[in-house]
Amino acid sequence: MGMFKALVLNQDEGKTTAAVEELALTDLPDENVLVKVDYSSLNYKDGLAVTGKGKIIRKFPMVPGIDMVGTVEESADDRYSAGDKVVLTGWGVGENFWGGYAQYARLKADWLVPLPEGMEPIRTMQIGTAGLTAMLCVMALEEGGVTPESGPIVVSGAAGGVGSVAVAILAGLGYKVSAITGRPETESYLRALGASEILNRAEMAEPARPLEKQKWAGAVDTAGDTILARILAEADYNGVVTACGLAASFKLPSTVMPFILRNVRLQGVDSVMCPTERRRVAWQRLLTQLPENALGDIAQIIALSDVPDYAEKITNGQVKGRVVVDLNA
Ligand code: NDP
Repeated sequence: MGMFKALVLNQDEGKTTAAVEELALTDLPDENVLVKVDYSSLNYKDGLAVTGKGKIIRKFPMVPGIDMVGTVEESADDRYSAGDKVVLTGWGVGENFWGGYAQYARLKADWLVPLPEGMEPIRTMQIGTAGLTAMLCVMALEEGGVTPESGPIVVSGAAGGVGSVAVAILAGLGYKVSAITGRPETESYLRALGASEILNRAEMAEPARPLEKQKWAGAVDTAGDTILARILAEADYNGVVTACGLAASFKLPSTVMPFILRNVRLQGVDSVMCPTERRRVAWQRLLTQLPENALGDIAQIIALSDVPDYAEKITNGQVKGRVVVDLNA
């Protein structure tokens, strides 16, 4: 078989370099399923990995890309055979194991999820890790007893990948959604996704008192730091706040007051090690509950060679919605 293209990260005097290289199948790590990759996507974590701004990659050379969708070419595992369409997100792929920014990948069968029936491959990457995480947050809100009748939901980092999909899913399910953004120019985009109120990021990042006026039945927080602290202080009695990101920082300058006086629940959400069964449920729900027309607005498509530029942009908060990487462009 011929050569194929991959984005390869290396280290040069402590700095991460990224270049599209030609590799052979024999260069791939030794795992039990060989997949021809159709699409990958760009998440915040990919941005940190490709630019080297975050300590995501510890072993070089590395092919990054934490998401991918493709077709099985060879499988030594009974669960998959040639021709099967599969999706992969997380499990440390694109961090500790070679990932989706390549036309071929060798993967563990345990990491794969069959393409949900009726879902176009490209749609899975329009959604990607970010969208899957958004759905896991919505599931956590529901498990905490939050319904559209409970009251408004606030979403931070709303114009980003997780935030955009969360706004679209929640609005589609009938929730009233307030979107926090630092980019006022995204207002019409966020309203088109279903946000009914736009909140200024800088104001929401102002340090809050231990308890503020109750405003939110639930929250999807991608920011952390003072924004998460304010959301907790503003959460309703019995409110559920899901925390999945650190776009502002990993800090949480809060108090116990919302928990002990308002019965507020702070629910962490992780997509990387999320069990396969829960992923399947989330993907199935994304198929039916993420409005089809929303994704056209949310996602743009780029080529593999564009990834380093976009990695820089996403880490500077300049990417709107989701970015799909077309491995054959
Ligand atoms: P994006 O870069 O697409 O979105 C992040 C958004 O956060 C930006 O678009 C911006 O939105 C907002 N933002 C940027 N800088 C700041 C800041 N200083 N303070 C507050 N908000 C800021 O990233 P993703 O959507 O891919 O990821 C969002 C977060 O969720 C990241 O921290 C990521 O690591 C995390 N994540 C966690 C996962 C998990 O499994 N727990 C899985 C996926 C992502 P706006 O312009 O609207 O303000």
